[in-house]
Amino acid sequence: MRTPFVCGNWKMHKTTGEARALAREIVNSLRGGAGGVDVVVCPPFTALAAVGEVLGGSGVRMGAQNAHSAPSGAYTGEVSAPMLVDLGCDFVILGHSERRQLFGETDSGVREKLESARGAGLVPIVCVGETLEERESGRTAEVVLGQVRGALEGLPAPEVGRLILAYEPVWAIGTGKTATPEEAQEVHARIRAEVETLFGEEPAGSVRILYGGSMKPDNAADLLSRQDIDGGLIGGAALRASDFTTIVGAACTE
Ligand code: PEP
Repeated sequence: MRTPFVCGNWKMHKTTGEARALAREIVNSLRGGAGGVDVVVCPPFTALAAVGEVLGGSGVRMGAQNAHSAPSGAYTGEVSAPMLVDLGCDFVILGHSERRQLFGETDSGVREKLESARGAGLVPIVCVGETLEERESGRTAEVVLGQVRGALEGLPAPEVGRLILAYEPVWAIGTGKTATPEEAQEVHARIRAEVETLFGEEPAGSVRILYGGSMKPDNAADLLSRQDIDGGLIGGAALRASDFTTIVGAACTE
């Protein structure tokens, strides 16, 4: 049985004060418990310290949206995995499509970052997903499974079971278009089968695969009811505490 996982990606939104207020609202709203759901928020780097203070002891955990592959060095403007651990992060999003598309991240770059994140003790949330053009030309599985292999191949099998993967069709991110639960489930099942081929039954059964792409309070329950959809990576709807916690509620199994 995989514990449901709901993660908010705040992207480049929220000043420190705004982030603190949003985190406080989420914590207050989940005070009665998160119903057996692992809840994580990923604020921008600048707000990590402030949000960490608000979350302290609440059960809601924190992640970052990116990390450099080196632990330290002459990389102006970058932030390393050990720095994120120092600020209280447990997770880091890697290979988000916005980073792949806008900042030129490649599968091999994602893999390097993943190694560094693991080394620092962070749990990577590895994003994969196809563009509209790739989907329309029938290449969804080829692209998505290629990204999965690029990020994971060669990892020790027990580590793979602890990772989080996020299937995020690029055409559904921030567009209001969502993959249907059937479309999403089909890709999730292919990803899990690929993990089984590469690493065996146990990691495939325990790795959590999130869906991301315009998940909202009104479509979350249907998506989350599917067998291989273990949670959500939420962008826009994570910026409103009530929407985010409604999605957490939809993921509850208790
Ligand atoms: C995301 O950026 O990870 C995402 C899923 O965004 P949205 O929910 O806004 O589509």
